[in-house]
Amino acid sequence: MEHDHHLIACHECDTLFRKPRLSGRATARCPRCGATLYRGVSGRLDSITALTVAALITFLIAQGFPIVELETNGITSQTSLFGALVALWDENMQIVAVIVFCATTLFPLTELVALLYILIPVRRGHVPPGFNRVLRAIQFVRPWGMIEVFMLGVLVTIVKMVSLARVMPEAALFAFGALTLMLAVVVTFDPRTLWDVVDDLRARPAPRRKQKAHPGQPGRAAVANRPASAPAPVTPRQG
Ligand SMILES: [Zn+2]
Repeated sequence: MEHDHHLIACHECDTLFRKPRLSGRATARCPRCGATLYRGVSGRLDSITALTVAALITFLIAQGFPIVELETNGITSQTSLFGALVALWDENMQIVAVIVFCATTLFPLTELVALLYILIPVRRGHVPPGFNRVLRAIQFVRPWGMIEVFMLGVLVTIVKMVSLARVMPEAALFAFGALTLMLAVVVTFDPRTLWDVVDDLRARPAPRRKQKAHPGQPGRAAVANRPASAPAPVTPRQG
């Protein structure tokens, strides 16, 4: 499927534009209807990477430390969220256990690890292998990894465990609270904007490769607001 990276259609009025490359936090708007086409993200990449790293560390604390105290046959034992889910499974609440595992562990972990896998190389200026697939995976798990679902998952576990266990208001519980806030910020980052960043990286010649001039390639500023009714000819992409 041939895809032209130089063009973008306004989602409000369908006007086609040549795509200007944005620096920093600039925003590209449709001059016809004023809709926001897309925003520059390079300024946000650093902060979202830092937050994702922090969220991953908090995730490990939340999952690693005990969250409930189980008492079976007079023996008390402390267990993490995963242990609590195993206990739920053993109590014939398999469906709840599986759903809560997906909402509190599988989906958030997938999103955080996949984001880091993409963000760290992209910040350094190269595209990680399998970029397209990983980005699609993030977009796939995102609706399932919603904050509400995540919070509900933790709450359901706690409510279900109350009959079996005592909830410990310690490190893990606070880490889950902090993680909820962090994930709320992480999901405000639209991973689709990374397509543009990666398009830039792919378009940029590699440092050691001979720099070839692209005579047919239009300048950046000149094409910013050109409507598609008279689109400039697009240089065929090499490779
Ligand atoms: Zn428009």
